[in-house]
Amino acid sequence: MSIFYNKIRVQVDLAVLRRNYRLLAGRASRVMAVIKSDAYGHGLVETAQALAAEGARDFAVGTVEEGLILRRSGCGGRIVSLLGPVDPEEFEVLFADPMVPFIGDFEQLGRLADTALVQSGTATICLKLDTGMSRLGFTTDQVPRVLDILAGLPNVQVVLAASHLATGDEPGQADYVNEQLAAFHRSLALIRAAYPAVEASLANSGGILAHPATHFDLQRAGISLYGTNPFAGTAWTDKGLGLAPAMQVSAPVLAVHPVAAGRTVSYGRTFTAERDMRVAVVAAGYADGYSRSLSGKGYMLLGGRRRPVLGRVCMQLTAVDVSQGPETRVGDRAYLLGGEGPEAISPEDLAAWWGTITYEVFCLLGLNRREFVSEGRARE
Ligand SMILES: *Cc1c(COP(=O)(O)O)cnc(C)c1O
Repeated sequence: MSIFYNKIRVQVDLAVLRRNYRLLAGRASRVMAVIKSDAYGHGLVETAQALAAEGARDFAVGTVEEGLILRRSGCGGRIVSLLGPVDPEEFEVLFADPMVPFIGDFEQLGRLADTALVQSGTATICLKLDTGMSRLGFTTDQVPRVLDILAGLPNVQVVLAASHLATGDEPGQADYVNEQLAAFHRSLALIRAAYPAVEASLANSGGILAHPATHFDLQRAGISLYGTNPFAGTAWTDKGLGLAPAMQVSAPVLAVHPVAAGRTVSYGRTFTAERDMRVAVVAAGYADGYSRSLSGKGYMLLGGRRRPVLGRVCMQLTAVDVSQGPETRVGDRAYLLGGEGPEAISPEDLAAWWGTITYEVFCLLGLNRREFVSEGRARE
Protein backbone atom coordinates (compact mmCIF):
# COMPACT_ATOMS: atom_id res chain seq x y z
CA MET A 1 0.00 0.00 0.00
CA SER A 2 1.27 3.44 -0.88
CA ILE A 3 1.42 6.35 1.49
CA PHE A 4 0.55 9.77 0.16
CA TYR A 5 1.63 13.07 1.58
CA ASN A 6 -0.47 15.43 -0.46
CA LYS A 7 -3.96 16.85 -0.76
CA ILE A 8 -4.30 16.73 -4.51
CA ARG A 9 -7.06 14.54 -5.94
CA VAL A 10 -6.92 12.99 -9.38
CA GLN A 11 -10.24 11.65 -10.57
CA VAL A 12 -10.44 9.29 -13.53
CA ASP A 13 -13.86 8.78 -15.10
CA LEU A 14 -13.93 5.25 -16.49
CA ALA A 15 -17.22 5.87 -18.29
CA VAL A 16 -15.53 8.65 -20.28
CA LEU A 17 -12.68 6.30 -21.20
CA ARG A 18 -15.22 3.78 -22.41
CA ARG A 19 -17.00 6.37 -24.50
CA ASN A 20 -13.74 7.49 -26.10
CA TYR A 21 -12.93 3.86 -26.88
CA ARG A 22 -16.34 3.37 -28.50
CA LEU A 23 -15.84 6.47 -30.62
CA LEU A 24 -12.43 5.27 -31.81
CA ALA A 25 -13.59 1.70 -32.38
CA GLY A 26 -16.23 3.14 -34.70
CA ARG A 27 -13.52 4.73 -36.83
CA ALA A 28 -11.25 1.71 -37.13
CA SER A 29 -11.31 -2.08 -37.48
CA ARG A 30 -9.57 -3.28 -34.31
CA VAL A 31 -8.31 -0.81 -31.75
CA MET A 32 -5.43 -1.79 -29.51
CA ALA A 33 -5.63 0.25 -26.32
CA VAL A 34 -2.25 1.80 -25.56
CA ILE A 35 -2.00 1.74 -21.77
CA LYS A 36 1.75 2.11 -21.31
CA SER A 37 3.11 4.11 -18.37
CA ASP A 38 0.16 3.28 -16.16
CA ALA A 39 -2.28 4.15 -18.92
CA TYR A 40 -0.78 7.65 -19.37
CA GLY A 41 -1.33 8.14 -15.65
CA HIS A 42 -4.96 6.93 -15.72
CA GLY A 43 -4.35 3.59 -13.98
CA LEU A 44 -3.17 0.51 -15.88
CA VAL A 45 -5.49 -2.14 -14.48
CA GLU A 46 -8.56 0.06 -14.01
CA THR A 47 -8.30 1.40 -17.56
CA ALA A 48 -7.78 -2.06 -19.06
CA GLN A 49 -10.78 -3.46 -17.17
CA ALA A 50 -13.02 -0.59 -18.22
CA LEU A 51 -12.04 -0.97 -21.87
CA ALA A 52 -12.31 -4.76 -21.78
CA ALA A 53 -15.93 -4.31 -20.66
CA GLU A 54 -16.35 -2.24 -23.81
CA GLY A 55 -14.96 -5.03 -25.97
CA ALA A 56 -11.25 -4.23 -26.11
CA ARG A 57 -9.16 -7.39 -26.71
CA ASP A 58 -5.71 -5.96 -27.39
CA PHE A 59 -3.63 -3.94 -24.96
CA ALA A 60 -0.25 -2.29 -25.42
CA VAL A 61 1.76 -1.79 -22.25
CA GLY A 62 5.26 -0.34 -21.95
CA THR A 63 7.56 -2.66 -20.07
CA VAL A 64 7.31 -6.43 -19.82
CA GLU A 65 6.78 -5.95 -16.08
CA GLU A 66 3.76 -3.79 -16.80
CA GLY A 67 2.48 -6.64 -18.97
CA LEU A 68 2.88 -9.09 -16.11
CA ILE A 69 1.00 -6.82 -13.73
CA LEU A 70 -1.80 -6.59 -16.25
CA ARG A 71 -1.87 -10.34 -16.82
CA ARG A 72 -1.95 -11.00 -13.07
CA SER A 73 -4.90 -8.62 -12.75
CA GLY A 74 -6.88 -11.14 -14.79
CA CYS A 75 -6.60 -9.56 -18.21
CA GLY A 76 -7.39 -12.26 -20.75
CA GLY A 77 -6.71 -10.23 -23.89
CA ARG A 78 -3.56 -9.96 -25.95
CA ILE A 79 -0.84 -7.99 -24.22
CA VAL A 80 1.80 -6.29 -26.33
CA SER A 81 4.89 -4.79 -24.68
CA LEU A 82 6.01 -1.72 -26.64
CA LEU A 83 9.38 -1.56 -24.94
CA GLY A 84 10.03 -5.28 -25.07
CA PRO A 85 12.46 -7.15 -22.85
CA VAL A 86 15.38 -5.26 -21.28
CA ASP A 87 16.51 -7.24 -18.21
CA PRO A 88 17.49 -10.95 -18.38
CA GLU A 89 14.42 -12.10 -16.41
CA GLU A 90 12.21 -10.30 -18.89
CA PHE A 91 13.63 -12.36 -21.76
CA GLU A 92 12.98 -15.58 -19.87
CA VAL A 93 9.43 -14.71 -18.89
CA LEU A 94 8.43 -14.34 -22.54
CA PHE A 95 8.72 -18.09 -23.00
CA ALA A 96 6.35 -18.75 -20.10
CA ASP A 97 3.82 -15.94 -20.56
CA PRO A 98 1.95 -15.39 -23.80
CA MET A 99 2.85 -11.72 -24.10
CA VAL A 100 3.89 -10.16 -27.39
CA PRO A 101 6.98 -7.96 -26.98
CA PHE A 102 8.27 -5.51 -29.57
CA ILE A 103 11.71 -6.63 -30.71
CA GLY A 104 13.45 -3.75 -32.41
CA ASP A 105 17.23 -4.10 -32.59
CA PHE A 106 19.88 -6.73 -33.14
CA GLU A 107 21.18 -6.62 -29.57
CA GLN A 108 17.69 -7.41 -28.25
CA LEU A 109 17.11 -10.04 -30.93
CA GLY A 110 20.44 -11.69 -30.10
CA ARG A 111 19.58 -11.92 -26.43
CA LEU A 112 16.16 -13.31 -27.34
CA ALA A 113 17.87 -15.92 -29.53
CA ASP A 114 20.26 -16.87 -26.69
CA THR A 115 17.29 -17.29 -24.36
CA ALA A 116 15.26 -19.25 -26.93
CA LEU A 117 18.01 -21.86 -27.18
CA VAL A 118 17.77 -22.73 -23.49
CA GLN A 119 13.99 -22.33 -22.99
CA SER A 120 11.44 -25.01 -23.76
CA GLY A 121 8.40 -22.76 -24.22
CA THR A 122 7.50 -20.66 -27.23
CA ALA A 123 7.66 -16.86 -27.46
CA THR A 124 5.47 -14.79 -29.76
CA ILE A 125 6.92 -11.47 -30.86
CA CYS A 126 6.19 -8.28 -32.75
CA LEU A 127 8.89 -7.06 -35.12
CA LYS A 128 9.32 -3.35 -34.64
CA LEU A 129 10.18 -1.58 -37.86
CA ASP A 130 11.89 1.76 -38.24
CA THR A 131 10.11 3.55 -41.06
CA GLY A 132 11.16 7.07 -40.15
CA MET A 133 11.28 7.69 -36.40
CA SER A 134 14.95 6.66 -36.24
CA ARG A 135 14.47 5.56 -32.66
CA LEU A 136 14.05 1.79 -32.34
CA GLY A 137 13.19 -0.76 -35.00
CA PHE A 138 14.65 -2.58 -37.99
CA THR A 139 14.98 -0.79 -41.31
CA THR A 140 13.86 -2.50 -44.53
CA ASP A 141 17.53 -3.27 -45.32
CA GLN A 142 17.89 -5.12 -42.03
CA VAL A 143 14.75 -7.24 -42.33
CA PRO A 144 16.36 -10.09 -44.36
CA ARG A 145 19.05 -10.54 -41.68
CA VAL A 146 16.35 -10.52 -38.97
CA LEU A 147 14.44 -13.25 -40.81
CA ASP A 148 17.63 -15.31 -41.16
CA ILE A 149 18.19 -15.19 -37.41
CA LEU A 150 14.54 -16.08 -36.70
CA ALA A 151 14.65 -19.01 -39.13
CA GLY A 152 17.01 -20.73 -36.70
CA LEU A 153 14.63 -20.23 -33.76
CA PRO A 154 11.63 -22.55 -34.08
CA ASN A 155 10.32 -21.51 -30.65
CA VAL A 156 10.07 -17.82 -31.58
CA GLN A 157 6.98 -16.95 -33.61
CA VAL A 158 6.46 -13.60 -35.34
CA VAL A 159 2.79 -12.68 -35.02
CA LEU A 160 2.85 -8.93 -35.50
CA ALA A 161 4.82 -6.28 -37.38
CA ALA A 162 4.55 -2.66 -36.28
CA SER A 163 5.97 0.77 -36.82
CA HIS A 164 5.28 4.19 -35.33
CA LEU A 165 4.36 7.45 -37.08
CA ALA A 166 6.44 10.55 -36.38
CA THR A 167 3.91 13.06 -37.74
CA GLY A 168 0.52 11.31 -37.55
CA ASP A 169 -0.88 14.28 -35.63
CA GLU A 170 0.51 17.03 -37.85
CA PRO A 171 -1.66 18.04 -40.79
CA GLY A 172 1.28 19.95 -42.29
CA GLN A 173 3.40 16.81 -42.42
CA ALA A 174 1.05 14.32 -44.05
CA ASP A 175 3.67 13.65 -46.75
CA TYR A 176 5.92 12.09 -44.15
CA VAL A 177 3.10 9.76 -43.09
CA ASN A 178 2.98 8.55 -46.69
CA GLU A 179 6.75 8.04 -46.78
CA GLN A 180 6.55 5.96 -43.63
CA LEU A 181 3.60 4.06 -45.05
CA ALA A 182 5.59 3.15 -48.18
CA ALA A 183 8.55 1.97 -46.09
CA PHE A 184 6.20 -0.06 -43.91
CA HIS A 185 4.71 -1.79 -46.97
CA ARG A 186 8.22 -2.71 -48.20
CA SER A 187 9.28 -4.26 -44.87
CA LEU A 188 5.92 -5.94 -44.37
CA ALA A 189 6.12 -7.65 -47.79
CA LEU A 190 9.47 -9.20 -46.81
CA ILE A 191 8.14 -10.36 -43.44
CA ARG A 192 4.94 -11.80 -44.90
CA ALA A 193 6.94 -13.80 -47.42
CA ALA A 194 8.30 -15.71 -44.42
CA TYR A 195 5.30 -15.43 -42.08
CA PRO A 196 2.12 -15.06 -44.17
CA ALA A 197 -0.20 -14.72 -41.19
CA VAL A 198 1.63 -11.79 -39.56
CA GLU A 199 -0.69 -8.96 -38.57
CA ALA A 200 0.32 -5.37 -39.16
CA SER A 201 -0.05 -2.19 -37.10
CA LEU A 202 1.04 1.32 -38.00
CA ALA A 203 -1.57 3.85 -36.88
CA ASN A 204 -1.49 5.76 -33.61
CA SER A 205 -4.27 8.19 -32.60
CA GLY A 206 -3.46 10.60 -35.42
CA GLY A 207 -3.36 7.75 -37.92
CA ILE A 208 -6.69 6.38 -36.74
CA LEU A 209 -8.48 9.70 -37.07
CA ALA A 210 -6.87 11.08 -40.21
CA HIS A 211 -5.02 8.45 -42.22
CA PRO A 212 -7.15 5.40 -43.04
CA ALA A 213 -4.38 3.98 -45.27
CA THR A 214 -2.33 3.42 -42.09
CA HIS A 215 -4.98 1.28 -40.40
CA PHE A 216 -3.89 -2.25 -41.42
CA ASP A 217 -5.03 -4.96 -38.94
CA LEU A 218 -4.66 -3.21 -35.60
CA GLN A 219 -4.76 0.48 -34.69
CA ARG A 220 -2.96 1.68 -31.57
CA ALA A 221 -4.94 4.35 -29.74
CA GLY A 222 -3.20 6.19 -26.92
CA ILE A 223 -3.78 9.87 -26.29
CA SER A 224 -7.18 9.90 -27.98
CA LEU A 225 -8.47 7.29 -25.53
CA TYR A 226 -7.68 9.68 -22.71
CA GLY A 227 -9.63 12.42 -24.45
CA THR A 228 -7.10 14.57 -26.26
CA ASN A 229 -7.94 15.49 -29.82
CA PRO A 230 -4.56 15.09 -31.57
CA PHE A 231 -5.64 17.78 -34.03
CA ALA A 232 -6.84 20.37 -31.51
CA GLY A 233 -6.01 23.85 -32.72
CA THR A 234 -5.21 22.72 -36.28
CA ALA A 235 -7.19 22.81 -39.52
CA TRP A 236 -8.12 19.17 -38.84
CA THR A 237 -9.77 19.78 -35.45
CA ASP A 238 -13.02 18.27 -36.75
CA LYS A 239 -11.39 14.87 -37.15
CA GLY A 240 -11.02 14.47 -33.39
CA LEU A 241 -14.31 15.95 -32.20
CA GLY A 242 -16.29 14.07 -29.56
CA LEU A 243 -13.40 12.86 -27.43
CA ALA A 244 -13.57 13.97 -23.80
CA PRO A 245 -10.85 14.09 -21.13
CA ALA A 246 -11.27 11.42 -18.47
CA MET A 247 -8.93 12.97 -15.90
CA GLN A 248 -9.88 15.76 -13.56
CA VAL A 249 -7.52 17.17 -10.92
CA SER A 250 -8.40 19.30 -7.92
CA ALA A 251 -7.04 20.45 -4.57
CA PRO A 252 -8.58 22.31 -1.62
CA VAL A 253 -8.20 25.98 -0.84
CA LEU A 254 -6.31 26.27 2.47
CA ALA A 255 -6.55 30.00 3.02
CA VAL A 256 -8.03 33.14 1.51
CA HIS A 257 -6.60 36.49 2.46
CA PRO A 258 -6.27 40.08 1.31
CA VAL A 259 -3.03 41.29 -0.25
CA ALA A 260 -2.57 45.04 -0.27
CA ALA A 261 -1.33 46.95 -3.31
CA GLY A 262 2.46 46.90 -3.43
CA ARG A 263 2.86 43.57 -1.58
CA THR A 264 4.53 40.66 -3.32
CA VAL A 265 3.41 37.03 -3.49
CA SER A 266 5.54 33.86 -3.11
CA TYR A 267 9.26 33.15 -3.50
CA GLY A 268 11.49 35.54 -5.37
CA ARG A 269 8.84 38.29 -5.32
CA THR A 270 8.08 37.73 -9.02
CA PHE A 271 4.53 39.06 -8.57
CA THR A 272 3.64 42.45 -7.09
CA ALA A 273 0.01 43.40 -6.43
CA GLU A 274 -0.86 46.51 -8.40
CA ARG A 275 -4.06 47.01 -6.43
CA ASP A 276 -5.64 45.51 -3.33
CA MET A 277 -6.40 41.86 -4.06
CA ARG A 278 -7.75 38.67 -2.59
CA VAL A 279 -5.49 35.67 -2.83
CA ALA A 280 -6.39 31.99 -2.34
CA VAL A 281 -3.73 29.50 -1.38
CA VAL A 282 -4.32 26.08 -2.95
CA ALA A 283 -2.85 22.84 -1.57
CA ALA A 284 -1.07 21.75 -4.73
CA GLY A 285 2.42 22.39 -6.00
CA TYR A 286 5.28 20.95 -7.96
CA ALA A 287 5.63 17.99 -5.59
CA ASP A 288 2.20 16.97 -6.88
CA GLY A 289 3.36 17.27 -10.46
CA TYR A 290 1.87 20.76 -10.89
CA SER A 291 4.92 22.10 -12.68
CA ARG A 292 6.86 25.11 -11.44
CA SER A 293 6.84 26.26 -15.06
CA LEU A 294 3.19 27.22 -14.44
CA SER A 295 4.44 30.02 -12.16
CA GLY A 296 2.76 33.25 -13.27
CA LYS A 297 1.34 31.46 -16.32
CA GLY A 298 -1.29 28.91 -15.28
CA TYR A 299 -4.90 29.22 -14.21
CA MET A 300 -7.03 27.20 -11.81
CA LEU A 301 -10.81 26.95 -11.93
CA LEU A 302 -12.54 28.19 -8.77
CA GLY A 303 -16.28 28.79 -8.60
CA GLY A 304 -16.49 28.10 -12.32
CA ARG A 305 -14.01 30.85 -13.19
CA ARG A 306 -10.38 30.72 -14.28
CA ARG A 307 -8.11 32.35 -11.70
CA PRO A 308 -4.52 33.24 -12.56
CA VAL A 309 -1.61 31.68 -10.68
CA LEU A 310 0.29 34.42 -8.85
CA GLY A 311 4.06 34.26 -8.57
CA ARG A 312 5.93 31.03 -8.16
CA VAL A 313 4.35 27.62 -7.75
CA CYS A 314 5.77 26.18 -4.49
CA MET A 315 6.35 22.56 -3.49
CA GLN A 316 2.93 22.01 -1.91
CA LEU A 317 1.21 25.37 -2.40
CA THR A 318 0.14 27.68 -5.18
CA ALA A 319 -1.37 31.16 -4.83
CA VAL A 320 -4.16 32.27 -7.17
CA ASP A 321 -5.91 35.58 -7.68
CA VAL A 322 -9.53 35.39 -6.53
CA SER A 323 -10.21 39.14 -6.50
CA GLN A 324 -12.76 38.81 -9.32
CA GLY A 325 -15.74 36.52 -9.65
CA PRO A 326 -17.68 34.46 -7.12
CA GLU A 327 -16.29 34.52 -3.60
CA THR A 328 -13.80 31.79 -2.72
CA ARG A 329 -13.84 30.19 0.73
CA VAL A 330 -11.51 27.91 2.62
CA GLY A 331 -12.32 24.31 1.68
CA ASP A 332 -13.50 25.13 -1.85
CA ARG A 333 -11.96 22.90 -4.49
CA ALA A 334 -9.68 24.43 -7.06
CA TYR A 335 -9.52 22.54 -10.36
CA LEU A 336 -6.05 22.32 -11.83
CA LEU A 337 -7.51 20.30 -14.71
CA GLY A 338 -11.16 19.94 -15.65
CA GLY A 339 -13.99 21.36 -13.58
CA GLU A 340 -17.45 22.36 -14.70
CA GLY A 341 -18.72 24.96 -17.14
CA PRO A 342 -17.45 26.85 -20.14
CA GLU A 343 -14.19 27.85 -18.41
CA ALA A 344 -13.27 24.27 -17.42
CA ILE A 345 -9.56 23.70 -17.89
CA SER A 346 -8.82 21.51 -20.87
CA PRO A 347 -5.72 19.33 -21.03
CA GLU A 348 -4.64 21.30 -24.11
CA ASP A 349 -4.82 24.65 -22.26
CA LEU A 350 -3.00 23.31 -19.23
CA ALA A 351 -0.30 21.80 -21.45
CA ALA A 352 0.11 25.09 -23.32
CA TRP A 353 0.58 27.15 -20.11
CA TRP A 354 2.94 24.46 -18.85
CA GLY A 355 4.98 24.47 -22.06
CA THR A 356 4.43 20.80 -22.81
CA ILE A 357 1.99 18.31 -24.38
CA THR A 358 -1.08 16.67 -22.85
CA TYR A 359 0.76 13.32 -22.70
CA GLU A 360 3.19 14.71 -20.11
CA VAL A 361 0.45 16.52 -18.18
CA PHE A 362 -1.48 13.24 -17.76
CA CYS A 363 1.59 11.16 -16.92
CA LEU A 364 2.87 13.54 -14.25
CA LEU A 365 -0.44 14.42 -12.58
CA GLY A 366 -1.36 10.73 -12.78
CA LEU A 367 1.49 9.90 -10.40
CA ASN A 368 -0.75 11.10 -7.57
CA ARG A 369 -3.33 9.12 -5.71
CA ARG A 370 -6.27 8.48 -8.00
CA GLU A 371 -9.97 8.03 -7.51
CA PHE A 372 -11.99 6.08 -10.06
CA VAL A 373 -15.56 7.01 -10.87
CA SER A 374 -18.00 6.06 -13.61
CA GLU A 375 -20.07 9.17 -14.19
CA GLY A 376 -19.61 9.84 -17.88
CA ARG A 377 -19.57 13.60 -17.51
CA ALA A 378 -20.38 15.07 -20.88
CA ARG A 379 -17.37 17.37 -20.99
CA GLU A 380 -15.47 18.00 -24.18
C1 LIG B 1 2.63 5.55 -27.19
C2 LIG B 1 2.55 4.80 -28.44
C3 LIG B 1 1.38 4.77 -29.21
C4 LIG B 1 0.18 5.65 -28.92
O1 LIG B 1 0.35 6.89 -29.56
P1 LIG B 1 -0.75 8.05 -29.35
O2 LIG B 1 -0.20 9.20 -30.11
O3 LIG B 1 -0.82 8.31 -27.89
O4 LIG B 1 -2.02 7.53 -29.90
C5 LIG B 1 1.34 3.93 -30.30
N1 LIG B 1 2.41 3.18 -30.64
C6 LIG B 1 3.56 3.20 -29.95
C7 LIG B 1 4.69 2.36 -30.38
C8 LIG B 1 3.67 4.01 -28.83
O5 LIG B 1 4.81 4.03 -28.15
